[in-house]
Amino acid sequence: MPLTISCAGDAEFAARIRDVLAESGMEVSIAEDEVEAQEEDDDDGNNNRQAKDLVKRYVASVGGGHSVIEFGDVLVVGIRSEPEALGLYVCDQCGFQGVSQEGIDEHKKLHGGYLFMPAFL
Ligand SMILES: [Zn+2]
Repeated sequence: MPLTISCAGDAEFAARIRDVLAESGMEVSIAEDEVEAQEEDDDDGNNNRQAKDLVKRYVASVGGGHSVIEFGDVLVVGIRSEPEALGLYVCDQCGFQGVSQEGIDEHKKLHGGYLFMPAFL
């Protein structure tokens, strides 16, 4: 089974992970934000251990809120941080997230006189 590393839309980060794995001699392919690495099976059947280890160590060395979540032979690399740190704007009434303050202002009109609209959560 090849190991899939999904970088949640970050093709640039995926390319860096591809380079890290390729440098260790693994067979690696990349499609946009997804990297696939094939490594020889271990004698004990613990597949992809080296590739997973390399990815985790690389992501940890990068820091910046990057984290790895493991689902079997899939690693999902994401950035764990507050919406504000991602450049998102947040409605202070319901937590709705938008990419601009204008969007939030428009969104707030939908609240009308209501303080809380679960439909927009
Ligand atoms: Zn709102």
